[in-house]
Amino acid sequence: MIDLRSDTVTCPTPAMLEAMIQAEVGDDVFGEDPTVQALEEKTARTFGMEAGLFCPSGTMTNQIAIRAQTQPQQEVICHRNAHIYLYEGGGLAYNSLVSVRLLTGERGVLKAEMVDAAINPDDVHFPPTSLVALENTMNKGGGACYQLNQIKEIAEVCQKHKLALHLDGARVFNALVTTGDEPAEYGKYFSSISVCLSKGLGAPVGSVLVGSHDLIKQARRVRKVFGGGMRQAGYLAAAGIYALDHHVEKLREDHQRAKVLAEALQDCSYVTSVLPVETNIVIATLQDTTPQHFLSQLEKAGVKAVTFGKQDVRFVTHLDFLDNQLDQVVGVLKKLNRQFA
Ligand SMILES: *Cc1c(COP(=O)(O)O)cnc(C)c1O
Repeated sequence: MIDLRSDTVTCPTPAMLEAMIQAEVGDDVFGEDPTVQALEEKTARTFGMEAGLFCPSGTMTNQIAIRAQTQPQQEVICHRNAHIYLYEGGGLAYNSLVSVRLLTGERGVLKAEMVDAAINPDDVHFPPTSLVALENTMNKGGGACYQLNQIKEIAEVCQKHKLALHLDGARVFNALVTTGDEPAEYGKYFSSISVCLSKGLGAPVGSVLVGSHDLIKQARRVRKVFGGGMRQAGYLAAAGIYALDHHVEKLREDHQRAKVLAEALQDCSYVTSVLPVETNIVIATLQDTTPQHFLSQLEKAGVKAVTFGKQDVRFVTHLDFLDNQLDQVVGVLKKLNRQFA
């Protein structure tokens, strides 16, 4: 089975497993796991931030960042298709007691003037705006990236209004290898960044939240309350360190394969359109068939993908998807073209 449902499906490589086995560990809730500390410092340094916090998931790093940078009754600004709003089980309201202002930007990307216009005035009727959250790359936007100047403009609006600016960087390295921007630049603009190690980077588990010393100190308290304090987590952190050292550049190959996949889909009569491919996500809109029917036929031919909205399907390329499998998938798409014709 070729699994293109998500880039979370990868398994550790033998070299990554070896790094995990060799890890020096300790009790991280007591602050005694040197490998977790090394991962936190490495990630923070990479993004030009002071400190980091290793967590079990990207949902947890996002939710901690929101909780640590808002007060109940305040409001968060994000895109209407943001992961923090759409795919985190209503955690914004449940964990942080905040309301949310949803914006509509093309392919999930917000602009500074939209953010500016959505900030509530200081009036007792309105929840005080306190946090803006961006997502890069944007999952629901088909892996679209922010350019650094767009981030900078939004950050200037946030600074002017004293708002925190969070980045859901589940796939931030996919964005960085595409735009060529330096990760350390991001530390100048965001107050917090969540980085997933278990997506395209191929680690089995884990995300790191980075920010200032004060923020991460507060975040560590919130992690404990959320039940995310782990003990000998260095085995997992070692996989993360290995991924940062060896798998970032490999993302380019995922992006190249996604482009080939998109071209093959474009040539199929049952596809009306494919979102432009910037990174490792391919979203295609179908015609003359339903996503359910298409995906069941695809699965019979040994390929898995997911529905993604009414008429859309999503494919995500990743570390365990190689050129010979790409050829197979392209062959299956062509075969289905004849079958549906
Ligand atoms: C996957 C993902 C997350 C976090 O997911 P977890 O499964 O909780 O690690 C957050 N944001 C985006 C955009 C994602 O794609």
